[in-house]
Amino acid sequence: MATKTISVPACEIPVCAEVDVLVVGAGPAGLMAAQAAARVKGTKVMLIESRGILGGNMTIGLPLLGFLGRKGNVVIKGLPGEFVKRLQDKGLATHHRACPLHVSLTMIDPEGTKRLAFQIVKEENIDLLMYVFASDVIMEGNKIKGIIIDSKRGREAILAKTVVDCTGDGDIAYRAGAPMNYGNEKGIPQPPTLMFSMRGVDSRKLRDAVADHPDIYDIDFIPNEFFRADDNCTFVGFRNQIKQAREAGYKIPVERTIFMTGMAPDEWWVNMSRVNGVDATDPAQYTHGEEVCSDQNAEIVRYLKAYIPGFENAYVDRVAPFMGIRETRRIVGEYVLTEQDIFDCAKFDDVVAVASYPVDLHHPVGGDCSLYWCPDCYDIPYRCLVPQKVDGLLVAGRNVSMTHLALASARVMGPAMAMGEAAGKAAALAVKHDTTPRNLDVKELQKALKEEGVYFREE
Ligand SMILES: Cc1cc2nc3c(=O)[nH]c(=O)nc-3n(C[C@H](O)[C@H](O)[C@H](O)COP(=O)(O)OP(=O)(O)OC[C@H]3O[C@@H](n4cnc5c(N)ncnc54)[C@H](O)[C@@H]3O)c2cc1C
Repeated sequence: MATKTISVPACEIPVCAEVDVLVVGAGPAGLMAAQAAARVKGTKVMLIESRGILGGNMTIGLPLLGFLGRKGNVVIKGLPGEFVKRLQDKGLATHHRACPLHVSLTMIDPEGTKRLAFQIVKEENIDLLMYVFASDVIMEGNKIKGIIIDSKRGREAILAKTVVDCTGDGDIAYRAGAPMNYGNEKGIPQPPTLMFSMRGVDSRKLRDAVADHPDIYDIDFIPNEFFRADDNCTFVGFRNQIKQAREAGYKIPVERTIFMTGMAPDEWWVNMSRVNGVDATDPAQYTHGEEVCSDQNAEIVRYLKAYIPGFENAYVDRVAPFMGIRETRRIVGEYVLTEQDIFDCAKFDDVVAVASYPVDLHHPVGGDCSLYWCPDCYDIPYRCLVPQKVDGLLVAGRNVSMTHLALASARVMGPAMAMGEAAGKAAALAVKHDTTPRNLDVKELQKALKEEGVYFREE
């Protein structure tokens, strides 16, 4: 943190837009928030994004997790369900495959996802502005009135009646002065990863070798035979192979090998780099993380080709456009969801989304990962989206009000999208009734979400 400061003169900032609902960040949560708000008739919605990509972490080669509950039923419906169905209809997403470890997996094509996101923005008349970074807030007392953006045009203001913070890092809530938490009890977040894909993998050889030789290829939790079927899967394991590679001098940053099917038969996405302790809200640390992950990935490619059957002739096909961030800041909202709520399958009167995914923790220290399951599914209450102390603001996605461990479950994209839909709808209804999100009638919100097909447990 810099110790030297300078003063800048006060200046006039042009107002480039005035809207009802402003959604900041176009990741899975932000996209759904903008769409849900736009579907409330007469709502003027704007979506802004700092990158030239719509979809956030949905575009870095990851499968959608969290769509099925542990009993095999679909728990994420509504707009996220529509989104996946549209991809599936074009052959750009797979079915939801039940998985003993990750509950369910739905592969998506990153390019198709970006394209569909643009289509939705256009269809719903959402005003989109990319390549702008939300750097500050405009406050009147405790009420947020808009934000400041920075771009090649300079500094500009966007005024909004309600703002939805879907930046993943709680940038808006933090600037507005909402109480925040960061990482675990020691302030260390889950580590980031730079994803990449490999093509030219002999997938049949891989699957048969693993299924035929559990004595050689150790897989975490799932019986090896599961992988024989030519279907969606994530391999987590090969700890023996990592041990052997390390003994031979390879530098592998994680304890277990993780890669998952892509959309092409010979394509696998690798989720193995990690840089512990990186604070992605600090650009110097984010830069360091990108550099280290890039070096790690080169070594991981060498390892996969040497130790994993079927990878002998594989080559790197795509590298994710940015290092994916699992965790930074979270708001302290009107309710803080805990891991105990998850294990108890908690029900809440103000439920706005239902989630069913294990607490999936990439250890903030060391190179391992742990998963802890809830027996069925749990409610996410509206209060987790409402920050304390700041009015006119909602939050959705991986920056909501939860403990570090609870977020390790709800951070995955199914629940993130569902929370986005709830926050966007709530923002639009708050504008419609000229009230604040804190004072919104939750029953009306739930009714509107039900009408959009959102799953609630009394169904
Ligand atoms: C390596 C990795 C592996 C994962 N594996 C899986 C998996 O297999 N399946 C799964 O379902 N989930 C997985 N997750 C979790 C999941 O991807 C994220 O938690 C989820 O994407 C969160 O969605 P979000 O919309 O809250 O945030 P993000 O996806 O991070 O989107 C935030 C968006 O806001 C934009 N933004 C940020 N700040 C600003 C600003 N100040 N101004 C303007 N725009 C801004 C960003 O550019 C981005 O587009 C993984 C995450 C990581 C990092």
